[in-house]
Amino acid sequence: MFGVTLAGGAGRMRAPKMTQNISGNVVTALKRANRVMIVTGAGISAESGIPTFRGADGLWRNFKPEELATPQAFQRQPHTVWEWYDWRRGLCAQAQPNPAHRVVAAMERFYHHFLLVTQNVDGLHARAGSRRMVEAHGSVWRGQCLQCGATLPLEVTPLKELPPRHEGCGGMLRPAVVWFGESYEPAVLQQMFAAAEEAQLVLVVGTSGGVSLPMDLVTQARQGGATIIEINSERSAVSRLAHERLEGKAGEILPELWHCAQLAYLVDEVRARAEQKGGRLLVGIAGPPGAGKSRLAKALAAELGPHVLVAMDGFHFNNARLEALGLRGRKGAPETFDRLAFELAVRAMRLAQEPVRLPIYSRETHEPVPEAFMAGQTTPFVIIEGNYLLHWPEVRDALDMRIYLDCDPALARKNLIARHQRGGATEEEAIRKFEQNDRLNRETIQATRGAAELQIWRDAAGWTVTRSDRQG
Ligand code: NAD
Repeated sequence: MFGVTLAGGAGRMRAPKMTQNISGNVVTALKRANRVMIVTGAGISAESGIPTFRGADGLWRNFKPEELATPQAFQRQPHTVWEWYDWRRGLCAQAQPNPAHRVVAAMERFYHHFLLVTQNVDGLHARAGSRRMVEAHGSVWRGQCLQCGATLPLEVTPLKELPPRHEGCGGMLRPAVVWFGESYEPAVLQQMFAAAEEAQLVLVVGTSGGVSLPMDLVTQARQGGATIIEINSERSAVSRLAHERLEGKAGEILPELWHCAQLAYLVDEVRARAEQKGGRLLVGIAGPPGAGKSRLAKALAAELGPHVLVAMDGFHFNNARLEALGLRGRKGAPETFDRLAFELAVRAMRLAQEPVRLPIYSRETHEPVPEAFMAGQTTPFVIIEGNYLLHWPEVRDALDMRIYLDCDPALARKNLIARHQRGGATEEEAIRKFEQNDRLNRETIQATRGAAELQIWRDAAGWTVTRSDRQG
């Protein structure tokens, strides 16, 4: 079953829920930047259920910071301080990274020069996959030995003994966090301020600026010419330094922002290649089943303009029209399947050169390709989406641009099972169908992966392009 649909037609793209208009300036800043720094505070973890310090349910409401988060307090009452930390460790262990943490991790894959500076000690950024990161205030998941100075992982919660001890030397451990009145490590300071000085773009997410570090970093970056974008549910001390403010929840705004910026980047790449090719482009999208190739095709088409033809796997043919094409609609018979796909792809390609009648109906609208469109308008973009349609080497060779959409395997599996279930399959049948990853799929994947001009990774954070401009 294959079909052709027109861009923008029945496309039901499930983009992130739009909460506010992201300005063109913000999208352009994200799309263009190469050197990026992200500064996060307690607000980014609020939607994971970890209280902030200064909000209405803030952690400090029942405790005075100077009673618990100072070296003096620890000297006076190490047991109480550790009790408080172990309670917080329990909260952090139960919490899951939220979409904002995931987008921050995705950004690290996109930007070549990147540093995340977090003031958080909860470990959620690392659990979301962030690696190029400075935990400026340390982590509740590490302890430092007061006797020998070693820093050790402390992964079990609740702790067996309070205060915990270093097995090696028997010394008492303290939480490996930076307390009020303590200084940052010089090497860490140097790394953070060097990144701020170089940054073209700084995103400041969920911090009140009540501690001087974010203010100092943002001031430094601003002096160096960086664009500052603040994401916070309220105004903060950082707001007056920001060029753009996005007010709302980080877990909603960041996915939306990333979706817009990545789509804009992709469209630029496709347009640039079309320009090289004299204004017309035949694009193919391959990738594992369940990666969302058709969703990507529709989203791209909607951005590229009205005269885009999308040939998709998985759309119904009208049988009478198939006969007219000289093709049999015997579903499932492999030789028919192959021939069908080939014919369709060839016709789509021809359409890119000279408009020809393509009597294919969209599954969703059951409407023929509009006459006006067929009557001779040029077709600057044809997008062929799907491993079946791209299976033939001659089709792949004819493409002007190949896109490989890779996907987190767990997400692909979930998507496919849901799709089969929507089609009436039981969960068991859906899993069996998913596991029958057939030969055509595998072969197209193998042939396209690595050879594609554009590679995209999709996970819970959405699409992230693997950039080819490695320098900058
Ligand atoms: P803060 O409590 O001073 O400020 C939190 C900020 O986040 C506020 O400006 C608030 O408006 C904003 N905010 C709240 N919910 C938000 C959401 N859903 N989306 C976007 N913004 C939201 O936090 P801070 O500036 O990080 O304070 C600094 C100190 O707090 C740091 O030293 C840090 O170690 C410590 N802290 C860390 C954690 C943690 O690790 N999760 C939790 C509490 C405090």
